[in-house]
Amino acid sequence: MEKKSIAVLGATGSIGTQALEVIRAHPDRFTVYALTAGSNADLLIAQALEFRPSVVVIADPDKYKQVQTALAGTAINVLAGNEALEEVVQHTGVDTVLCALVGSVGLRSTLAAIEAGKTIALANKETLVVAGALVMDLAARKGARILPVDSEHSAIFQCLAGEQAQQVDKIYLTASGGPFRGKRRADLNAVTAEQALRHPNWVMGAKITIDSASLMNKGLEVIEAKWLFNLDVSQIDVVVHPQSIVHSLVQFKDGSIKAQLGLPDMKLPIQYALTYPDRVENAFPRFDFTDFSTLTFEPVDRVTFRNLELAYRALATAGNMPCILNAANEVVVAAFLKGETGFLAMSDVIEETLAAVTFMQQPTLADYESTDQQSRIIARELVTKSRKIYHIEK
Ligand code: NDP
Ligand code: MG
Repeated sequence: MEKKSIAVLGATGSIGTQALEVIRAHPDRFTVYALTAGSNADLLIAQALEFRPSVVVIADPDKYKQVQTALAGTAINVLAGNEALEEVVQHTGVDTVLCALVGSVGLRSTLAAIEAGKTIALANKETLVVAGALVMDLAARKGARILPVDSEHSAIFQCLAGEQAQQVDKIYLTASGGPFRGKRRADLNAVTAEQALRHPNWVMGAKITIDSASLMNKGLEVIEAKWLFNLDVSQIDVVVHPQSIVHSLVQFKDGSIKAQLGLPDMKLPIQYALTYPDRVENAFPRFDFTDFSTLTFEPVDRVTFRNLELAYRALATAGNMPCILNAANEVVVAAFLKGETGFLAMSDVIEETLAAVTFMQQPTLADYESTDQQSRIIARELVTKSRKIYHIEK
């Protein structure tokens, strides 16, 4: 069997490290061409010494020397800065690019990989939220396949196997409901980052964990699904399923529903994206019906968790609205993690930013990038204002 050569962008993160577990378990199938990190030099060095890629990239230029010194004497090429990512993903030695960066910083490298016709295993949902139209259009023109890593989208993708796109009536994305399921707005005023970081079912990076608590993650996933599966916003529904066993569902024109089930373990969708179209044996713990006698479903509360409502609205308006939503969200999540803004204030800032930034119907890449920057500036100003209000209220 010909081995697949993988570039792992964001190798030191939650998805990146789990992807390396999958790769480690199948040395007959995979080789690693590149590993990249933001600033975690120690872990990147350890990973490089184990997997012996051709290239490593450390985004933080201050860490370059450390990585370079540690890998001196190996054949590994060490690069720094995010521009290097765009170069690395286009190398002829790469078959599949796993995009596991967090945030809109992943957009350029994903576009570069698509430009070179690579297969993309996409975890970085923000890329599709920011510029879904652009990304999907380029992928179609370059014949680059985008395989979902996000568990809900992997589930939909699996349910659609062998089906015809025009026979899909709607999809249901499942949401665990996060740590604040069942809470009302009044209960959420004073919740802390520490509380929000305690996700009941999944262990993930900090940003997506806060997004899960605020349901912005589900909002981003609605937008991600629109682009991956070419759906209308009216065809995408969300249902709360606290056990996180049913990863998502597709309903067809005849009313029949298909679902994909499994334990909440990202290694499974990661592996499927990397081995597609093959299904490969593994040693992951398996779902057992005797452990889950009850699987429950409930409607989602878009009033308390207003971020989901805002995401639906941004998607319906389209243009650069989802890009504004994403940038404002990245700003408020970073601020919330530092205790600089309140949980409910996050939605206020996002809503005000959506109203303040100039709307563009058909943005270019440059327009998306300027929208992203402008939105961040406005959202930061609003956070500073909300901080004063937040401190008075506390
Ligand atoms: P993490 O925060 O755990 O990891 C992010 C990775 O990106 C790290 O390798 C980090 O490096 C790197 N990175 C961060 N900022 C930069 C930057 N400015 N430039 C270059 N590299 C950077 O995130 P997750 O793994 O949780 O999430 C990754 C993506 O996958 C997100 O888009 C998320 O929504 C999506 N996803 C994640 C799931 C999960 O279970 N974690 C589930 C479904 C989707 P360093 O370690 O050095 O900071
Ligand atoms: Mg998900």
